[in-house]
Amino acid sequence: MEVAAVIGHPIAHSLSPVLHNAALAAAELDWEYVAFDVEPGAAPAALDAMRVLGLAGLSVTMPHKEDVAAAVDALAPAAAALRSANTVVRGNGGCLIGHSTDGEGFVASLAAAGVAVAGARVLVVGAGAAARSVIDAMGRAGAAQVVVVNRTAAKAAEAAGLSVVARVGAPDEIGAADIVVNATSVGMGTSDVPFDVALLRPGQVVADLVYHPLETRLLAAARAAGCVAVDGLGMLVHQAVLQQELWTGVRPDPAVMRAAADAELARRATNP
Ligand code: NAP
Repeated sequence: MEVAAVIGHPIAHSLSPVLHNAALAAAELDWEYVAFDVEPGAAPAALDAMRVLGLAGLSVTMPHKEDVAAAVDALAPAAAALRSANTVVRGNGGCLIGHSTDGEGFVASLAAAGVAVAGARVLVVGAGAAARSVIDAMGRAGAAQVVVVNRTAAKAAEAAGLSVVARVGAPDEIGAADIVVNATSVGMGTSDVPFDVALLRPGQVVADLVYHPLETRLLAAARAAGCVAVDGLGMLVHQAVLQQELWTGVRPDPAVMRAAADAELARRATNP
């Protein structure tokens, strides 16, 4: 049996074991995916443990993504650009390669919703870790432009530097975008919205990276305004699809992961 794992702190509420184990079982692979609570600062030791224990793959979540990117043997292009890794793959001779599948997973979640990024005018609200992965991936996927709007201007400028098609913008540009992305944490566990929803216009795509709640107030307002709404669970599912394919060589079924995630969230809603 092969063993893969997620490291993070805290880790108890991670959906990753549910997603990965559902897809591994559906593909009839003799793999098990487990979660390890790893204290801040201990990511290099966790990578040593991966080597010693022969773990076949690693997912990496807060607060270890930057430390892992600095400690692996090599980085794939997106992880190198972001200096952040959410995935570790065992390469030839046991060398550890860091990948970042968040941004590509987001693009895949849009594609699954019938939304093409190539040639699109994108506006990203936020400039934190999730926003940076989205900005980088939007550039790689051929967006015509990526406008970055963030509360802290200096962080917006730094994030916009990730892509030649990105620049800093202002909220009044929201109406001119084809795809509007909330990559802030605003709306997580609250009914707050990250910008004035009156700026939305019919036909726009509005994607929210927040998935707790699944139907954020932003997405509800977007639907009411005649926009196409894309929830944040799709990104979580598709970044996991890419991780599992990197480890096993077998592309897992996103529908299996999505069903497992929906079921787990429904279970937690009734039995937190
Ligand atoms: P982060 O690095 O801490 O960045 C937070 C971002 O939110 C920053 O741009 C911050 O602006 C902004 N922000 C926070 N509070 C704000 C407020 N009250 N008003 C305006 N802006 C505010 O966090 P992250 O890792 O990027 O995560 C952001 C969200 O994405 C979280 O909700 C997370 O759960 C979600 N996420 C989802 C997925 C997925 O798979 N769906 C993956 C990763 C993250 P400043 O720069 O001004 O502080």
